[in-house]
Amino acid sequence: MNKGKYYITTAIAYTSGKPHIGNTYEIVLADSIARFKKLNGYDVYFQTGTDEHGEKIQLKAQDANKTSQQFVDEIASQIKTIWDTMNTSYDNFVRTTDANHIKQVQKIFKKLFEQGDIYKGTYEGWYCTPDEAFFTESQLVDGKCPDCGRDVHKAKEEAYFFKMSKYADRLMKHIEDNPKFIQPESRKNEMVNNFLKPGLQDLCVSRTSFNWGVPVTFDEGHVVYVWIDALSNYITFLGYDVDGNHGDLYKKYWPADVHLIGKDILRFHTIYWPIILMALGEELPKQVFGHPWLMVGEDKMSKSRGNVVYLVIHG
Ligand SMILES: [Zn+2]
Repeated sequence: MNKGKYYITTAIAYTSGKPHIGNTYEIVLADSIARFKKLNGYDVYFQTGTDEHGEKIQLKAQDANKTSQQFVDEIASQIKTIWDTMNTSYDNFVRTTDANHIKQVQKIFKKLFEQGDIYKGTYEGWYCTPDEAFFTESQLVDGKCPDCGRDVHKAKEEAYFFKMSKYADRLMKHIEDNPKFIQPESRKNEMVNNFLKPGLQDLCVSRTSFNWGVPVTFDEGHVVYVWIDALSNYITFLGYDVDGNHGDLYKKYWPADVHLIGKDILRFHTIYWPIILMALGEELPKQVFGHPWLMVGEDKMSKSRGNVVYLVIHG
């Protein structure tokens, strides 16, 4: 018996280095859910892939004497090999350097600009290069990056901003009306109390300090903030089209039944992503599930911290 459709996604892995077992944990977890749903009669679509733009990648490629494209081609291939070695049953392995994805991200950015959700301004703040994120003075923890604890530097640039506050009340209501939207419960409270209740700041959504990204079509030198690019993968690779000529997969499978992600990127998936979708007039995912991290001692296992365990493939 067909119980209907079920669309599950993992986060797309950042191609700044080869994946470690923490990344592998997520795809295996998603795979077990996908297989379970299939066995239970659901029409499952399972998407995973790689996030391939950003300053960190550009710098890593330069260090390795490679073009950014060569660099991400190699890492994406390693990631896919590991997903295949783990025998994961994904339906589509997507890469954000895909030409159609880039075209749709450009159209999304332009639409949001034209309808007034994105405007041009100047950014002044503290910048964390490894995280590619700006912070205000008050967000810093002991003068360091609140996300990773590393040094930040003062930076100023002309940039585009997204009026997040415009959609904050609607998002708050959606979270209240849909208790399963953010899971587990503890993470929902964290998002609401730490980010929504204090009031959402406008989000800086373009960069000019590097060029390895999706170019803003109407303003040379600007590239689209990597999170708008990356989050859009969930719809662009199903055939979402800004002009409304959606592909069949999009019509059938969107909204996602679950975005399975690490708890560290919940803010992007439960605040920025739903607001982007609201601005586009599209439905929100039914659930965002933030899983815990694999730990090394007291620390999160992460490529940028260098404390990782890799899966080695022999033969
Ligand atoms: Zn940082």
